[in-house]
Amino acid sequence: MAGTKKTKVLIIGSGPAGYTAAVYASRAMLEPVLVQGIEPGGQLTTTTEVENWPGDTEVQGPDLMLRMEAHAKAMGAEIISDIISTIDFSKRPYVCQSDSGTEYVADAIILCTGARAKWLGLPSEEKFKGFGVSACATCDGFFYRGQEIVVIGGGNTAVEEALFLTNFASKVTLVHRRDELRAERILIDRLEKNPKIHTLWFNELEEVYGTDAPLGVEGVKVKHTKTGEITDIPAKGVFIAIGHAPANELVKDVLETHMGGYVVTKPDSTETSLPGVFAAGDLTDHKYRQAVTSAGMGCMAALEAERWLAEHGMAENEDAVSAAPATKNAAE
Ligand code: FAD
Ligand code: NAP
Repeated sequence: MAGTKKTKVLIIGSGPAGYTAAVYASRAMLEPVLVQGIEPGGQLTTTTEVENWPGDTEVQGPDLMLRMEAHAKAMGAEIISDIISTIDFSKRPYVCQSDSGTEYVADAIILCTGARAKWLGLPSEEKFKGFGVSACATCDGFFYRGQEIVVIGGGNTAVEEALFLTNFASKVTLVHRRDELRAERILIDRLEKNPKIHTLWFNELEEVYGTDAPLGVEGVKVKHTKTGEITDIPAKGVFIAIGHAPANELVKDVLETHMGGYVVTKPDSTETSLPGVFAAGDLTDHKYRQAVTSAGMGCMAALEAERWLAEHGMAENEDAVSAAPATKNAAE
């Protein structure tokens, strides 16, 4: 779909932040356009049970996100399957190019691009990615029925992935670089009670090895962080669950970032350093990174965009970047 699409508010991203912003912006009669990106529904579509979304004791992540999408649509938001590739922040209205060839022209933008899985950066991890190495247990766990699996990491994601993978695997080894998990107590309790999971403390992934033809994993070598001792663990699947990094590619050269790339917003606000540009959810949040906090920020962003548009009206090729404070990207 090529051509130009004009909107008062463009919402980029379809996780809890994006859909909540779309609900609020629709109810404010802003007729928002939401571009979904490569992962419609965001990170929660890569998990199973969500047990901390208020109002649902337990809900499947993908179902929850379909409900959010339906809610946003019912309120009047236009939901488009497309990926924004660049944003020209030099003038208002802002002009976004997309993979489909459509040009989106927006008076205000709400950035909700969230976060995506981090990788260790090992050559062998790269070699077997998609052929035994994965960052999504719900997507790929099924392939390892009756096999041994290794999970790397010590946060909520790693523990949830390890637990979920016991539905398929004969044995799951959780490899963590310390002797303390970062995950919530309730998940640690479940981990400790699960006879299929063995935890290997003070170890880091050194290498994934396997066959070349066909490409496939046979095991990993892990290294003790204190003694340097190498342990060989046979496994057909390796799940990397070492956290997420903000998806800031569209804005990292223009907006101020901190703590490893999270977009800086003004205190108690979703306003960024550019006029009419708001940021919500995991893209800005190095601390909480939850569905409910992302949704809360999506709500704030829509309310702030509404007030900002009421005050500033629609733009006619106004200089934007030169009016904004200089940006600074602070290292972690
Ligand atoms: P995300 O959900 O990250 O969505 C980002 C969106 O931006 C995606 O739709 C993507 O397609 C889009 N996007 C990115 N780039 C572009 C682009 N260039 N153009 C257009 N669109 C773009 N939290 C909980 O509260 N409870 C849980 O039980 C829970 N379980 C989790 C399990 C797993 C495995 C993971 C990975 C996370 C879990 N979380 C959980 C955390 C929760 O998923 C996130 O905090 C939340 O999804 C963040 O929402 P978001 O809207 O900021 O962004
Ligand atoms: P996280 O909390 O940042 O944990 C990342 C884990 O990976 C940590 O244990 C960390 O070790 C380890 N790690 C990081 N880099 C590593 C490296 N280079 N080598 C080896 N290990 C490394 O990330 P997450 O678990 O993906 O969670 C992200 C956010 O989503 C959190 O806010 C979490 O609460 C949320 N989430 C919530 C739920 C839920 O509510 N049920 C489920 C999943 C995710 P150290 O501990 O040593 O730093």
